[in-house]
Amino acid sequence: MSHPVYRQLLEVMKKRGGDFSGMDIPEFFAMVEAMFTPAEAEVNNAMPRGPFTAQDLAKGMGRETAEIQALLEGMADKGLCLALRMGGTTYYQSARFMPGILEFQFMPGRSGEREKQLAKLIYAYKKAFDARSDISAPAYPLNRVITVERTIAAGNQVHTYDQVQSFIDQNDQIAVTTCFCRHAALLRGEEIHGMPNDVCMQFGPAAQFAVERLNGRMLTKAEARTVLERSEEAGLIHMSVNMTEGLGFICNCDRWHCVTVTRALAKEKPAFYFNSGFQPQFDAEKCTACETCLDRCPATALTMGAQELPVVDLDRCFGCAVCATGCPTEAIAMVNRTDILAPPKDGKALKAAMAAAGQG
Ligand code: SF4
Ligand code: SF4
Repeated sequence: MSHPVYRQLLEVMKKRGGDFSGMDIPEFFAMVEAMFTPAEAEVNNAMPRGPFTAQDLAKGMGRETAEIQALLEGMADKGLCLALRMGGTTYYQSARFMPGILEFQFMPGRSGEREKQLAKLIYAYKKAFDARSDISAPAYPLNRVITVERTIAAGNQVHTYDQVQSFIDQNDQIAVTTCFCRHAALLRGEEIHGMPNDVCMQFGPAAQFAVERLNGRMLTKAEARTVLERSEEAGLIHMSVNMTEGLGFICNCDRWHCVTVTRALAKEKPAFYFNSGFQPQFDAEKCTACETCLDRCPATALTMGAQELPVVDLDRCFGCAVCATGCPTEAIAMVNRTDILAPPKDGKALKAAMAAAGQG
């Protein structure tokens, strides 16, 4: 029988929402009992919405500020809550499981006994959660693939969202951390197929948090571009939230370990789980039928057609351009597809779009 504080934590995490939000199954309690001490769980359960100071929370809990401050500091260092220093004061904020606490456990890239244990327990919880959930494609996608800008054919509509390079130009704070999906896989003793592991990018306040608490390091703009290039070369997919403004982060995902990608690939029509709004177009003059694009495509969306030219299955293609970046003769250009909506402008518009799709 779990300590009552963990049962309360289940209800708190359900209310916070997000992916893997909290499910009353043994795997949930095995995970949270390894993740939070009872004292940390109590603090987690008492956190208000929005940013707060240690003093605010101590007052709300009827406890000493020094005691709550020490607990909050330890929790922020363990990725159990958010923390940001502003004007000499540290503000804390509660975090969801995903995006949030589950990723924060592995972004620092540590490989101690705690991380090894959590890698197994988190994986078991996610598996059990998915087995009991309806994870059919959402009517309105929360994630979006960002196509590789330089592969977009001239004359096509390019949204601000797709201009990752210009987003890098506009941001003064860009950080990189370890990829939580691949690092967790390594901790479980799995293969990561030679994929780079230091390509998880955060922008703005998220970058500051990553550096202060998640062992991240700040990048120059030139270094950030190199991270993107290395990811493209390896055949990784750029992913973020489905919004035009304020990217916040860019994950560089693979087909073996990323939760979002593997979930989509298990479906008959991965294209409608998330998409960039682009599709590949093949130049018959330049194509040598080498089939490199078929091997690189993470969605297995390509087959060789009768004319010795690749053919794309648009039910599977999510428009990542991994095929285009690997083509030795530059025979692939990405062009707009008309059946995928442009991303909403901001968080408010995303919520409205989700509500319209019955996901509010
Ligand atoms: S990688 Fe390029 S050249 Fe090779 S089959 Fe694909 S489109 Fe043709
Ligand atoms: S065909 Fe495959 S690699 Fe090319 S854009 Fe579509 S999903 Fe990506």
